[in-house]
Order: sequence, then C-alpha cells, then structure tokens
Amino acid sequence: MKQTIRDLQPAGRTIFLRVDFNVPITQGTVTDDSRVVAALPTIGELSRAGARVLCASHLGRPQGSRRPDLSMEPVAAVLGHLLGHRVLFIPECHGPQVAKGVATMGDGEVALLENLRFAPGEEKNDPDFARQLAAPASIYVNDAFGTAHRAHASTAAITRFLSPAVAGLLLEREVTSLSRLLGPVDRPYIVVLGGAKISGKIDLMESLMERVDAILVGGAMSHTLLRARGIEIGRSRVEEDRVDMARHILERARTRGVDLVLPVDHLVAPAVDSDTVEATSGVAIPAGLMAGDVGPRTVDLFSRRIQEAATILWNGPMGIFENPRFASGTRCIGAAIAASPGFSVVGGGDSAAAVRQFHLGDGFSHISTGGGASLEYLAGRSLPGLAALAEKDT
Ligand code: ADP
Ligand code: MG
Repeated sequence: MKQTIRDLQPAGRTIFLRVDFNVPITQGTVTDDSRVVAALPTIGELSRAGARVLCASHLGRPQGSRRPDLSMEPVAAVLGHLLGHRVLFIPECHGPQVAKGVATMGDGEVALLENLRFAPGEEKNDPDFARQLAAPASIYVNDAFGTAHRAHASTAAITRFLSPAVAGLLLEREVTSLSRLLGPVDRPYIVVLGGAKISGKIDLMESLMERVDAILVGGAMSHTLLRARGIEIGRSRVEEDRVDMARHILERARTRGVDLVLPVDHLVAPAVDSDTVEATSGVAIPAGLMAGDVGPRTVDLFSRRIQEAATILWNGPMGIFENPRFASGTRCIGAAIAASPGFSVVGGGDSAAAVRQFHLGDGFSHISTGGGASLEYLAGRSLPGLAALAEKDT
C-alpha cells in the first residue's frame, strides 16, 4: 500500500470515499454499526483536514434497482451520531442531485450517497457509470476492504477517472495486518478453521498448507473431513459432494507435513433446537444425532495447540454459536486465541461477529472487517480493489 490518505493535501477538495457500510438493517434500524465505526478514523481525518467527504457504499443485493428497504438513509443517521455532527444524505449516488448536494457542502462536511447497487453500472464495473461517480470529486479514497475482492465501478473502474487514488486507514491496516500472515512469521503458525462449509474455503486451505504448521478444524466443515476419514457423523451437516475434495485435502496435508487436527468429540442433539445436548464419548457421532459444536476434549486439545502457537489465524466458528446450546466451543476457542501473546488475526464475517458477541476483541492483534475479501487475500489472490490502487502508484 504505497499511497494512503496521509499523502494527501485534502483541504477544500471533494473526496469520493468508498466505504463498506453494508450493515445489517432490520425495519429501518441498523442493528450492528461496527462497519461504520471501522471507517470513522478515515472519515474523521479527512473531515478534520478540511476535505468535503462524499461517502459511498453498497447495501445488500438490490441488483441494479431501487429498493426502499435497502436505502442508505438510516446509515447516514448512524454515521452522524457517531461523528457528532450532521451528515448530509443524498438520495442518489450519481447525477445532478449529487452535484447539487455537493454544492451546499462546506469544508470538513460529510455526506453519504444512496446505495451504489441501486445503479446497474456498479456491479458491472461500467466505466461510464464510474465516470459519473467520479464527476463531483477530485480525489478517490478506498477504505472498503470488505469489497476489495470485487471489481465494481466504485472499487475498480473509478480509479481511471480520479487522481490521486489512495487507501484509507482501515484498508491500510487490513493489508498491513493480513500481509504479515503471508510473509515470514513467528512459529508455530497455527490456523483454526471452522464454519459452515468446506467448499468456500478449499483455496484458502490449499494455500495455507504451504505456510502453516498445523490446521485445527472444527464446525460443520470438520464433518466433511471426518466423513472422508470414514467416520460416522450421524445427521450432522455435511457436504456430500465435497467428500472427495476433503480426501484430497487430508492427503495433501500428509504429504506437506502439515498437522491437520480434527475434533475428537462433539456436542450432539437430536435436532438443532433440542434441549437434550450431550457430549459424545468419541469421535463418532451416533446415528440420529447431529453435532452442533465441538466437545470438551476437543476444546482442550485445540487450546493446548493454541497456547504453543506464536502466530494464529482464525476463520470460522467451531459450532452453531448463534444458538446458546452450541456456543461454548466457539467461545472457549476464541478465548484461548485471545489469551495468546502471539500475533492473532480473525477473519470472516461470522467469526468476527462471534469475537464481538463474546467480548474477546481486545485479545486479538487484528479483527478483519472483510469476510470474503480477507479469505481471498489470505489465499494469495490479487484483489481488484487493491490492484486498482496499485496501478495508480506506478
Ligand atoms: P465466517 O463467516 O466466519 O467465514 P462461515 O460463514 O464459514 O464463517 O460459517 C459460519 C456458520 O457456520 C455459522 O452460522 C454457524 O452456525 C455455522 N456452523 C458452524 N458449525 C456448525 C455445525 N456444526 N452445524 C451447522 N452449522 C454450523
Ligand atoms: Mg459467514
């Protein structure tokens, strides 16, 4: 990340600031403002420096047409509240209304544009649309790490029309922290993986195998690996069509000398909402039962490995942590990572939510705000949003 907002002289300039305000909204109320909070340092810094800050984001998947329930307007109110001053909401993301709104802004003022994905050009990375987005501004800042893996008009094409085009403080921090995991790290380097599916994380696993000492796997994705080892998994969530892939991963870990550690017991129940939850005596899951969490012996086993680690990456909950019956594995493993004095990073939307839910944030070196983006970055892929900035640097 060569150029950041620290290299700007933004006083009196209008800045197009791409943020990730893709927040959960229920009946007009923002239920989790952490993505807005994460963008405050950049917005505050630009505003204090006297820039006119035009924030823009997508929200949900309106697929190119206007959806009142996906308006950014409630987010403008939240942002204004957090900043402690007025934020102008402009109910369009391009065109004359934006120009009119910008004309009313003074130095240091902040505005929020309407949902970028109301316009079909956004996800198409349409250069004409990107030119219209760029029109009211003279500087481009990208602070939307969560969208950096998408080549969209506001993350990629727009950099052709604005110079300078630089990174915000959040984007910079994400890249600095995550890139540490791609270079030489202190060892042992241990990865804790979990979550719903193995399918979205195959590339990540393949890439991590080249770098890490051990991979501890919990969550539903461990069921597919257990099945590949021929172990009974009862009615637990599994991806039948990925069992071959799982077998390949087990084989690969063996040849690479990477320790792939699977659960040795589970918390099981007849159904996800059943109150008769019990721990299995071994690795097999009895017929008719489903695993909703890792068991206590697995927590001990994983915690010991985590205590020895100097570098830890965590992605994916150990169980259905949203359900209190199955939260303990994720909470205990999260706490073990948080207690580690080593360099610890959590990536993935649900894992980061778990860290917040269990108040473990202070124990982590970095909590990535990018779900898919952090996984793609850690799999060694080039992210279009970062590439678009890098092209401007050279
Ligand atoms: P992240 O967003 O951190 O990358 P994922 O999206 O891959 O994580 O997975 C999170 C989801 O996995 C959670 O909703 C959780 O309930 C689910 N999950 C974890 N373990 C299990 C399990 N044993 N059975 C069913 N679902 C599970
Ligand atoms: Mg998720």
